[in-house]
Amino acid sequence: MPTVVNLDGDLVPPAQAKVSIFDRGFLYGDSVYEVVRTYGGRPFEEEAHLARLRHSADRIGLVPKWDAARTAREIARTLEAARGGDSRDPAAAPWNAGERYVRVVMTRGAGEIGLDPALAVNPVALVLVQPLAGPPAAAYRDGVAAAIVGVRRAPPAAIDPSAKTGAHLPNVLAVREAREAGAHEALLLDGAGFVTEGSSSNVFAVAGGTVRTPPLGAGILEGVTRGVVLRLARSEGVRAEEVPLRPEDLEAADEVFITSTVREIVPVTRLGPHPVGGGRPGPVTRRLHAAFRALAGGPRSVGPRVV
Ligand code: PMP
Repeated sequence: MPTVVNLDGDLVPPAQAKVSIFDRGFLYGDSVYEVVRTYGGRPFEEEAHLARLRHSADRIGLVPKWDAARTAREIARTLEAARGGDSRDPAAAPWNAGERYVRVVMTRGAGEIGLDPALAVNPVALVLVQPLAGPPAAAYRDGVAAAIVGVRRAPPAAIDPSAKTGAHLPNVLAVREAREAGAHEALLLDGAGFVTEGSSSNVFAVAGGTVRTPPLGAGILEGVTRGVVLRLARSEGVRAEEVPLRPEDLEAADEVFITSTVREIVPVTRLGPHPVGGGRPGPVTRRLHAAFRALAGGPRSVGPRVV
C-alpha cells in the first residue's frame, strides 16, 4: 500500500505533497503532531490522541487549522483512501499486519521569516497514512536493547515535555547515540540524573512484582500507551507506581519495558552492555502485554518462531 497524504484536506500523491519553505514547521519545528495507529483498520485511542494534540497546541499557543472533529473526519477519509494493497512481511508481529500508521501534523504556518509567532499565516494540516511498520515479532519474543544516552532532557521550564511538538532535535541526537551503541531505543535522563523517558517511548521497571514508571512531573510526554498500561496493571491486580527512577533502578530491575503507540509494550532485555533480569522478557511484561493484546484485539501472541 502506498503512502496516502491528506494535505489541508486534499488527498494528494506523496510526491506532490509540498509545503512552503517558509513554513515555520520546517524552519523552526514550530508545529505539533500525533501518531495514531489502527487495529482492525480503526484508530486506537483516537480521542486521547486528539486531546493531546489540542493540549500540545495550547501549550505553545498554536491554533490548529482543524479542530478535533474535523481532524477525526480527515483521518477517517485518509484511512479509507489507504485501504488494501498490503504486502506480507513474514517478520512482522501478527497484530501489525494490514494495520496503518497515521501521522497528524499541524504547523503554525508560513509567513515572513522571523521567530515572532504573530508572523505566521496559512497554517498547514497534514494527515499521512502508511502501512504500520511496528517492531518485528522477534522484538516481543526476545526483547530489545536500550541505552541510557548522554543527551539530557531539557528542564520543563525550557521545553514543555508534555507538548508533542516538531522540535525534536534532542530526540534525534539521542537515537543517533543509541544506534551507535547498538540499541533500539535511547533513554534520556534529566539534568539531575533521573530517568525521564525514551526518545519516542515511556519506560517502566518491574521489581519485586511492582511496576514503576516516572511520574508526569519527571519531564515526560503523557504517553497514551503509558496510560493504558497503568490502567491494565491496576485491573490485572499488578501493583503500579508513578515514582522517580534512577538509572540504578533500571539496571537492578527484574524487568524493563518500553511503551508507545507503534510498539505497544516491548521488553527491554539489555541496558547498554548489561542484560536486564535474566536477559529474557519477564513474566510481568508478558502478562501486561497479553492484557494489552486482549484489549486492542487481534492475535494474542507472536506465536512460534518462524525458521
Ligand atoms: N515519549 C515520547 C517523547 C514520544 O515521542 C512518544 C511517542 N508518541 C511516547 C513517549 C509514547 O507515547 P504514546 O504511547 O502516546 O505513543
